[in-house]
This record gives sequence, structure tokens and C-alpha cells, in this order.
Amino acid sequence: MPKVLIIGAGGVGGVVAHKCAQNPEVFEQIVLASRTKAKCDAIADQVKQIQGREIQTARVDADDVAETVELIEQVQPDLLINVALPYQDLPLMDACLQTKVDYLDTANYEPKDTAKFEYQWQWAYRERFREAGIMALLGSGFDPGVTNVFCAHARDELFDEIDTIDILDCNGGDHGHAFATNFNPEINIREITQNGRYWEAGEWVEIEPMSQSLVFDFPGVGERKAFLLYHEELESLVENVPGLRRIRFWMTFGEEYLTHLRVLGNVGLTSIEPVEFQGQKIVPLQFLKALLPDPASLAEGYTGKTSIGCLIEGRKDGKARKVFIYNVCDHAETYREVRAQAVSYTTGVPATVGAEMMLTRKWHEPGVWNMEQLPSAPFLARLGERGLPWHVQEM
Ligand code: NDP
Repeated sequence: MPKVLIIGAGGVGGVVAHKCAQNPEVFEQIVLASRTKAKCDAIADQVKQIQGREIQTARVDADDVAETVELIEQVQPDLLINVALPYQDLPLMDACLQTKVDYLDTANYEPKDTAKFEYQWQWAYRERFREAGIMALLGSGFDPGVTNVFCAHARDELFDEIDTIDILDCNGGDHGHAFATNFNPEINIREITQNGRYWEAGEWVEIEPMSQSLVFDFPGVGERKAFLLYHEELESLVENVPGLRRIRFWMTFGEEYLTHLRVLGNVGLTSIEPVEFQGQKIVPLQFLKALLPDPASLAEGYTGKTSIGCLIEGRKDGKARKVFIYNVCDHAETYREVRAQAVSYTTGVPATVGAEMMLTRKWHEPGVWNMEQLPSAPFLARLGERGLPWHVQEM
């Protein structure tokens, strides 16, 4: 009886719970645990109402390895899906090692006190996971995640040689708030206020935050301005796409969003340095998070679409080729299906498909893996069927 333990009951955790519940042949038993049990119970009620399935819930502080080990021993899952926050990646990997349970996440580890995300900490577990005979799948969301698999498909099927990759992420949706983030505000703001970084001719090039942009015609959305950011899939794709000359990541932001962010940054509210306030130490960004809407709460009434893909240039059979491999996802449709907005949906569906690959042993290799290191075909075949159809456009 395959059993899955989902950790994290936010926007993404809700989607994973619904999508697992829709697929009882693979996910026969589902347990959802998080820091606040009431959030798990609310999702369980909704899953019962919409999908007609019972899921169990539990409380856990995933920063505490012993507490998670205890929960794993009680639940006895075949796989742990981590959709809590990047801070919990290492403690959860430690708990999986101790109990010999497979692991999956959607975002790479980031220490709480430095806004720096890198794979080095999780890649350091490779040997230990191999020796324990268990698998860790890293970054099984959309970007990272599906974008890595699109690149693997291009590398293995569409091109003989790849020169450049530009990953383009557009949220053309409108949630009706003056300022809100579509996933955890703290993680999101830490990501976009860092310096931009891309890889060219064998080295990393660093630029000022939001200092390079381009206009791209996104399928399903139209022309939007996108800004160059550093994003974690660049680090693994540089290793796993041979012959690559350049790789960059771009994300769209509206003028209104950027103005808010600039003002919040100027007054110090996006800082992660603790400040003294009325005899107490507070982290300004954590305080700001408390004021901003919960990403899951944006779902109702959200209109418009996300459009995310990989623009890839190279050669096939001696001829130049340029393709855009992408998915378009509609906020209102995902709300109808699982009560979530498209950013949570486009993360939660690939997490569920990655989990299915592992539980059905289509992907099962002891060690720690990034998505593009595994065969792209079975994953891509399921992705469309599970709610995220994808397309290849010749440019
Ligand atoms: P939310 O903030 O909505 O949810 C996070 C959840 O994790 C909350 O339920 C929170 O509990 C729980 N949590 C936090 N700390 C702990 C802890 N110590 N122990 C147990 N549970 C904890 O975030 P999202 O759902 O939007 O995002 C989830 C993950 O998905 C993030 O890591 C994010 O980076 C990643 N992501 C990946 C994307 C991709 O494409 N690869 C895109 C978008 C997101 P509580 O409610 O008590 O705070």
C-alpha cells in the first residue's frame, strides 16, 4: 500500500494533497503534516469535499529532526514530500536518512541567516543517500523542476548541440491586491532582492538586482517585460547540459510590484538583519511577511494565466534550431479544480508527478538527483495528463 507523507500545508501543500488524492492507484494512503495542524485539517476537509477521499493529518516541527523521525516511524511512509520551506530541506533529509525513506522537494536549501540558495549543501548528501539505498529528488516544482525536464528533453531528443538556454517565467495574472507574492513572501523577496547572476563562457556573471530586462511574447499572455534573476536550476543545468555556452533566467514583474518592492527596500523592510524594536529583536522581512496576504488566500478571484518555458538554441542534423518549450496555466481553472492559484498549482502538480515517478519505480536510483539527470519521457508523458499540458514551438 504506497503511502506518502506530505510536509507543509501552504499553497503548494494543498495542491499536492488534492493531486495525490485524485490518483488513488499510486497514492493509496496520504498523510499531511505541518507546523500548524489546523491548516492540514482545513485542507483535509476540502480534499474530502472535492475529491471524496480521506487523508490523515498530523503536527510536526520539521526543523526538529527527532520529532520528524518519530512521525515517520509512526506513519511508515514510502516517500516524504517536502513542500514546507527551503530552511527545512536539510533537517528533513537527515530524518529520511535515519529512517531510510525516499525524499522529494521543490526548492533548494537556504540558510535562515543568509539569503543564498545553493545545491552544495544537498549535493553533499549524495554518498550517504547512495549508501542508505534511498533516493532524494531535488527541485520537483515548475522552476526548478519542469524547466529542468524541458531542458533534458531538448538535450536528449530535440538537439544535437545546445548553445544557449533562457528560462522565461511569466505570471500574467491579477489577484486584485496592490502588493502580494505568489509563494511564501519571505522566500520570494529574498530571491528577487539578491544580485542577478547568469552563466556564460564557463563562468558566472553577477549583475545588480533587476538591472537587465527583455520583452518577450509569452504564449497565452502576450508581451511582457522580464528581468534577469539568479535561479537555482541554473546551477545544476550548467553541470548537466554538455557544451552549453550561456544560460539565464528571466521573470516578469509589473511596474506596480517593482515600485512597492523598491519602497519597501528603501525603508528597510526587506532586510533579513534583525533590528531592536521595543525591547525585542525582529527581522524586518519576517514582520513584512506577517502583513502580506497568505499566498494560498490569493486563489479566489485570481484571473489570468502563467506562461513559463525554456527558449533553447542550438543545432539539429547540422541545421540551426530554436524552440520554446512551455506550459500555460489558468488561475481561475486551477481554483475550480483544487481551490489554488496557478503558481501553487504549477509547483504542486510536478511534485506529485515526481512522486509518482519514484513510487512506480520509473525513477528510482539511490543517491541525490536533480530532475534533468533522470529520463524525461515518462515524466513528460504524465505531466499533461495530470494537469500541465506542454508544447514545443519552433521559433
Ligand atoms: P507557504 O508559506 O504557503 O507554506 C509553507 C508551509 O510550510 C506552511 O504550511 C508552513 O507552516 C510550513 N512550515 C514552515 N516551517 C515549518 C516547520 N518548521 N515545520 C513544519 N512545517 C513548516 O509556501 P508555499 O506553499 O507557497 O511554498 C512551499 C514551497 O514551495 C517553498 O519551499 C517554496 O520555495 C516552494 N516553491 C517552489 C516553486 C518551484 O517552482 N519550484 C514555486 C513556488 C514555491 P505554517 O502554516 O505553520 O507557517
